[in-house]
Amino acid sequence: MSHGADRVWSVTEHLESILGQLTPLDPIELQLLDAQGCVLVEDVTVPVALPPFANSSMDGYAVRVADVTAATREHPAVLDVIGDVAAGSGALPTVGPGQAARIMTGAPLPPGAEAVVPVEWTDGGTGQGPVTGMAPSSADPAGASGEVRVHRPAEARQFVRARGSDVAAGELALAAGTVLGPPQIGLLAAIGRGTVTVRPRPRAVVLSTGSELVQPGDPLGPGSIHDANSFALTAAARAAGAIAYRVGAVADEVETLRATIEDQLVRADIIVTSGGVSVGAYDVVKEALSTLGDSFGQDAEGTAGHVEFRRLAMQPGKPQGFGRIGPDRIPLLALPGNPVSAYVSFELFVRPAIRTLMGAGAVHREVVRAVCATAVEGSPEGKRQFLRGRYDRTTGTVTPVGGSGSHLVKALAHADALMVVPESVTSVAAGGEVDVILLD
Ligand code: AMP
Ligand code: MG
Repeated sequence: MSHGADRVWSVTEHLESILGQLTPLDPIELQLLDAQGCVLVEDVTVPVALPPFANSSMDGYAVRVADVTAATREHPAVLDVIGDVAAGSGALPTVGPGQAARIMTGAPLPPGAEAVVPVEWTDGGTGQGPVTGMAPSSADPAGASGEVRVHRPAEARQFVRARGSDVAAGELALAAGTVLGPPQIGLLAAIGRGTVTVRPRPRAVVLSTGSELVQPGDPLGPGSIHDANSFALTAAARAAGAIAYRVGAVADEVETLRATIEDQLVRADIIVTSGGVSVGAYDVVKEALSTLGDSFGQDAEGTAGHVEFRRLAMQPGKPQGFGRIGPDRIPLLALPGNPVSAYVSFELFVRPAIRTLMGAGAVHREVVRAVCATAVEGSPEGKRQFLRGRYDRTTGTVTPVGGSGSHLVKALAHADALMVVPESVTSVAAGGEVDVILLD
């Protein structure tokens, strides 16, 4: 492989060169809901047992076991109801021999009581047969005071959730490295944590370049097309875990592009551009970022930012730019403009970069081996080709969608996988195997 300006980079070399220059963002303390999708950087231990007190798992009556040992439908145990215990009750009645307290789900087990008898196993304090529900005490004064007939015996701790039965005080609730999804956020809330220390979601600024680009919703003029990339890439950045800001399309003017990027530096942990990186006359990204001088700020050592433009042995996505710019050395990935090239490049390089900044354990997509349902012909020699495909999990087969053209956005939208045809392979027979990158 040659070096210098003529050097052709492999996909792996380019990716390693990017990830090798990135370190995870510094941890910050966030409110629970702001930490969704973030990676925990502290071990969280449980301060107070969960549940914090023994409580009822049913609506019913809190009783002493000895009082109901012989209870049957024909010969019910008749107990004096000494009061109500609702969820949140602070002052609790003490249940003595021959007594019961009416209790609701989640309410603390009152002192003296050893078990809960569900209301369905009693007369509900009505003096009649079994009931299917409990009347409120205002409509049913006998429920909260008076007598209840219990039709079945109870074992100790029956329908009682013991203190600490979910998790004990001092136990590890969540280990550092855990990604916080909804159930993890629920656990943190349940153990009383209002904030957690996590790596923040990287802020990804996405902009597209091209004087031909028109915002979706606006009419097309002669030669213009709608800006697809800034939308696809912003959505992809968000799906990767970033807080994504879509700047939109910038005209092919060097000064406008430089000014726009400079303005964005303050809110970016990573910048993604599309278009303008090949060798055309208006390839403005390359022109604007190849020589940065002082305009993108100097770091502590006084060196200016630098973006390197490379040719990769891949299809689609041959031209790629990568560098770190501005006083904080914000990583910038310049992707090619063809929508399929831009998206494939995002999957291969930007997504792992975002996941690295997040400190995520899994930086890469799942890759599986799959059988080609139809033959692949004409794959370029010496390039790693990424074809769009549909993967069938049940049969383990993959079917190409659309052709290799990097403008085929409809085919991309109907694909759920990238088929990887290696550099040395130019065709794959039907029934042959390829690696498949699963897109979500
Ligand atoms: P470029 O890399 O800028 O030369 O663009 C390559 C091709 O992709 C051209 O046909 C562009 O019109 C098209 N293209 C560039 N940017 C976008 C975009 N944001 N949305 C849709 N197509 C684009
Ligand atoms: Mg362009």
